Amino acid sequence: MLVTLLGTGCPQCHPARLGPASLVRAGNTSVLIDCGSGVTQRLVAAGSSGAALDAVLFTHLHSDHVVDLYQLIVSSWHQGRDRPQRIFGPLGTRAFADGLMEVWRAEREARIQYEARPSVAAFDLDVVEFEEGAMLDEAGVRISAFRVDHGPVRPTFGFLFETADCQVAFSGDTTVCDNLVRWAGGVDLLVHECFIHREMVAQRVMRSEVGLRNVAAYHTLSSEVGKVASRAGARMLALHHFVPLMFDRDALLAEVRADYTGPIVVGEDLVSIDAVRRAVTFEDLRLGLG
Ligand SMILES: [Zn+2]
Ligand SMILES: [Zn+2]
Repeated sequence: MLVTLLGTGCPQCHPARLGPASLVRAGNTSVLIDCGSGVTQRLVAAGSSGAALDAVLFTHLHSDHVVDLYQLIVSSWHQGRDRPQRIFGPLGTRAFADGLMEVWRAEREARIQYEARPSVAAFDLDVVEFEEGAMLDEAGVRISAFRVDHGPVRPTFGFLFETADCQVAFSGDTTVCDNLVRWAGGVDLLVHECFIHREMVAQRVMRSEVGLRNVAAYHTLSSEVGKVASRAGARMLALHHFVPLMFDRDALLAEVRADYTGPIVVGEDLVSIDAVRRAVTFEDLRLGLG
C-alpha cells in the first residue's frame, strides 16, 4: 500500500504545503482522502489524476478539507473521466455536494454544451454518507471509518485501510482520542495530524489567547503525537496537517522521537511511503526503513 501525502498543510497558505489531501494506492485501487487546496495539481504531480480515482473520502467538512472538490470534478472531466465520482463523507456531505453542484450549474451546463465532449458522467456524483464501521470493501482493499474527537466539529472521522498484507490508519483532524488508538492498534503506518504549539507563539499577534487555546484543543499537539503512536503500537508514523505550516523540523523530530521509537516521517508534500516495503520516496531520495 503506497501512501502519498499530497498536501501537508492547513488553512494557512504556503506554496510548499498545500491543503490537506492524501492518496492511497493499493493494487489497482486509488483512493483520495480529503480535497484540500491544490489537490488536483498534486495528484498529477504524484502520477495520478482525478480521472483515475476510485473513491474520494472526506474526514470532515471543514473547508480546508473539501474546498477543491469542484475543481477535482471539473479537472477529472477534462482528463477524460467517464464514470461518476464516488464520494464518501460524514453526515452533511450530500447537502454540501448538492449545493456545490448547484452553485456551478449554469456555468457547467453552458460548458458541457459548448465543449461537446463524449461523456458527462464525471459530473454525476455518487455520494455515500457513512457512520463508524466498514465503508468500502472491494478489489482487496477494505476501508473503515472511525470516530475521532475534533471538538465541536461532529462527526469527524479517521480511516483504516486494510489489505491482505498491510494496515494503514489516518487520524483525520483530532485531539488525542482513545478510539483512534484502538482502531490504529498495531498498524503498519499511522498518518497523523500535528499541532506545533511552541511555533504558534510567534503568531500571537494574529490570534487571541482564547482562539489559540481553542484551536490547540481540537488538534493533537506535537508533544502528544508520539505518545499516541506508541500507545497504538504503530510500526511507522508519518506527520502531516501541520499547524503552523512552517516550523523547525529538527526540533519537531526530536520532540516526537522522545515518545516514539519507530520510524518517523516529518511529512512534505509529495512524499510517498510504501507501508509494505517500509520505504520512503521523495524527489530523488529512496530510503529503506528496514
Ligand atoms: Zn484541518
Ligand atoms: Zn478540521
